[in-house]
Amino acid sequence: MLGKIDLRSAGAESDSAIEGLKKFFLGPHKILIVSHQNPDGDAVGSALGLRGILATLGHEVSIAVPDDSPPFLKWLPGHAGILIFERRSGKRVIESAFRSADLVVCVDFNAPDRADLMEPWLVDSKVPLLLIDHHPPQDIFTDYYWIDETKGSTSELVYYFIKRMGWAQLLSAETATCLLAGIMTDTVEFKVNCSYPEVFETVAELVRAGADKDRIYNEIYSMFSESRMRLLGYSLESSMKILPELHSAYIALTRAELNRFNHRKGDTEGFVNYPLSIEGIQFSVLFTEQEDHIKLSLRSKGTFPVNEFANRFFNGGGHINAAGGRFYGTMPDAIAHFESVLMEYQDLLKKV
Ligand code: 5GP
Ligand code: MN
Repeated sequence: MLGKIDLRSAGAESDSAIEGLKKFFLGPHKILIVSHQNPDGDAVGSALGLRGILATLGHEVSIAVPDDSPPFLKWLPGHAGILIFERRSGKRVIESAFRSADLVVCVDFNAPDRADLMEPWLVDSKVPLLLIDHHPPQDIFTDYYWIDETKGSTSELVYYFIKRMGWAQLLSAETATCLLAGIMTDTVEFKVNCSYPEVFETVAELVRAGADKDRIYNEIYSMFSESRMRLLGYSLESSMKILPELHSAYIALTRAELNRFNHRKGDTEGFVNYPLSIEGIQFSVLFTEQEDHIKLSLRSKGTFPVNEFANRFFNGGGHINAAGGRFYGTMPDAIAHFESVLMEYQDLLKKV
């Protein structure tokens, strides 16, 4: 560990670290990019965007994630080359990528356990680690970091890093598309976490570089299977519960219900946002039954801190308005636990 250097801060230390990195990137080097479990559009978009630019600079770049992305992200340029730990031989290939890397870059997560079984390779890394992330910082586990929790996505931060390194002119249309896809998905199509002008300037620059906004909309938002659309209908009609006094709502989907709709990974992505469109609802949770636990997706409007709630009661974390967590037990127990701990927050839950 070199000491934890904040690359965004003004001052001699960060200037000298940036100059050092610029020299390092004159390369060529082997670079490994790591992102988090259940990779979302921002995890994949930021990793692919960074790989795109580093490959253009002549580096040999791999991307490793714990598990596969949902189908609606697989069209992203370069996606097929992502190394997936849980795949057959994934562990061996990724271990070898860790061993040969000259630098490891972590994108879109703030705690090494989000890399699941790759965590020991991160914390015991012999080579420098760089983190680019927009989650509220926890214990910094990397040598260099570029963290800005005021920004809507890590993909946007990757673009600022690229600019700071002086590489913006090298951006290809494919790389710009990956970064724009990350920005669009993490801001829920520019609905949340993007009420500042800089993000729209970034979008303009990415579109100028050739980012294909129409393709992103089409591939990510207009490719539902019929059964996925019917599962959404069922979730809202039959499964959603409203707790009006607590300004909260939840949707719970058991394995049997998911199976009835021929559920595929990623099919429930975005469902948690719908209850927030109901007047008076400030907090929404989606419970989905997994093999050995209940997964929670939590979203809020305004100041209700779902990351704190997920961390205190459901072994999770994330952002103030978007977090994830898990419960080990049955669905009825998960819901009972949720409803009882929610009472503790009743003073914070109000119409926004
Ligand atoms: P999602 O509901 O889409 O799975 O996750 C929403 C947000 O919470 C994302 O920013 C994701 O990175 C974060 N997140 C999801 N699950 C966890 C978790 O178990 N721990 C932490 N620290 N963050 C999580
Ligand atoms: Mn993100």
